[in-house]
Amino acid sequence: LPTVVIAGHPNVGKSTLLRALTNAKPEVASYPFTTKGINVGQFEEHYLKYQVIDTPGLLDRPLSERNEVERQAILALKHLGKVIVYIFDPSEYCGYPIEEQTHLFEEIHREFGEFPFIVVLNKVDIADEEKIKAVEEFVRSKGIEPLRISALNGEGLDELKERVIKLVKPMVEEQAKRI
Ligand code: GDP
Repeated sequence: LPTVVIAGHPNVGKSTLLRALTNAKPEVASYPFTTKGINVGQFEEHYLKYQVIDTPGLLDRPLSERNEVERQAILALKHLGKVIVYIFDPSEYCGYPIEEQTHLFEEIHREFGEFPFIVVLNKVDIADEEKIKAVEEFVRSKGIEPLRISALNGEGLDELKERVIKLVKPMVEEQAKRI
């Protein structure tokens, strides 16, 4: 299945977004390389099914801070993932200041450079406009147009799905041609 991997610091809203996108309570799937488990959900759009996965404790730390088991899990994810949805929390309610969030983004973006990235700014329902703008400026400096969302009240989620579909569809069609 076309797969969307959600990444970002703890408490930025990854599992809330997974629930909002897939409209279902995610099951906790056991994961071959770790006892932690990953959360998986699905959504269907234009007769195509998409898998969305959240990776607690995996994509919220840079490579240098992961143990061997986690590195193996990341390797497996790299074979699975088609699109990475990276979440910022400009409200800083997650407990991580913007500087730490931009730093982690740079490391993850470098590590997963071969994947298409969609960057979202979550919790715009409670974040200061100034902080939102600061994060937007940072993301644009990386050549990516960020999207404002609220996983809690649904703002921006239709646009997010559209962006996912736009990125994934050509890949799926390309695969279909080879069959
Ligand atoms: P995760 O650790 O990244 O999976 O984060 P969670 O999904 O558990 O969310 C962490 C906290 O942020 C929870 O208390 C959520 O209710 C809250 N949260 C998530 N998304 C939003 C949002 O869009 N707006 C607001 N105000 N709170 C949110």
